[in-house]
Amino acid sequence: MNLVKLMDEFGTDDKCRGILEELRWPDGVCCPRCESKKVSRIKKRDQFDCDECRYQFSVLSGTIFHDTHLALKKWFVAIYLIVESKKGISANQMKRTLGVSYKTAWYLCHRIRAAMTEMNPKPLEGTLEVDETYVGGKATGGGLGKGNYLKNKSIVAGIVERGGDVRLSKISKTDRRTLHAFIKGFAHPKTKLIITDEWQAYRGIADADTEHAVINHKRKEYVRGDIHTNTIDNVWSLLKRSVAGSYHKLSAKHLDAYLDELEWRFNNRANPYLFRDTLIKLIGALNLEYKDLIAA
Ligand SMILES: [Zn+2]
Repeated sequence: MNLVKLMDEFGTDDKCRGILEELRWPDGVCCPRCESKKVSRIKKRDQFDCDECRYQFSVLSGTIFHDTHLALKKWFVAIYLIVESKKGISANQMKRTLGVSYKTAWYLCHRIRAAMTEMNPKPLEGTLEVDETYVGGKATGGGLGKGNYLKNKSIVAGIVERGGDVRLSKISKTDRRTLHAFIKGFAHPKTKLIITDEWQAYRGIADADTEHAVINHKRKEYVRGDIHTNTIDNVWSLLKRSVAGSYHKLSAKHLDAYLDELEWRFNNRANPYLFRDTLIKLIGALNLEYKDLIAA
């Protein structure tokens, strides 16, 4: 997919509705209320009428696009920009590109991002790299002492399967209990190998099925044969570039949503149908109400 193709294929409301209909009901239109397939199309209102229960609905009913005041083609461009930009895209950039208000752009980005959340992530296995990093915030006053530097930052833990998916979480501490719980929450119990740096909180993560290899960054050791954390380091550089380049006002409260977006893009890095698959996720996603977003 590229932007020109996108405009050709989805440049009108009708074309957007067409693809949404295909993706939502691949086996033919089906009533969302009673699941009957006996439905009549009311062409001029873009609606359907269920012959069984008389419910009238559109392809947008019950989806994230329901009640939207924004043209569907703008939604499509926004989705395209979010999934295709390596570093993500800021609400300000979205505002300029779509010609909408900042508030509309900001809300739109958040709704699309919320739909990218993986509800039932499959356990990671094989060789896993685990690390933690600090993002966001700025050191304020008092020099660059470590405590001061970290005060306004959030901690993110990451675990990545070599050749597979990444999972990211905001964590509150980097102690043993937190990091072990994070790893156990995402790794298959029979994972072959977990690679971390020398941070002591990772000690004891090995068991009968799982080996633990340590790469000692403090001693300037970065690669020992297959033992390295380059994959998760790459994820951190993507995260840092997107925080620096796109999300100037990245607040701790929305960090989880940004992490979900990064995960979705990273985990679909080789997926040629990423745009289509993102549309499918959006159709199936719960709507994110503006009031819930700002209250969160
Ligand atoms: Zn019905």
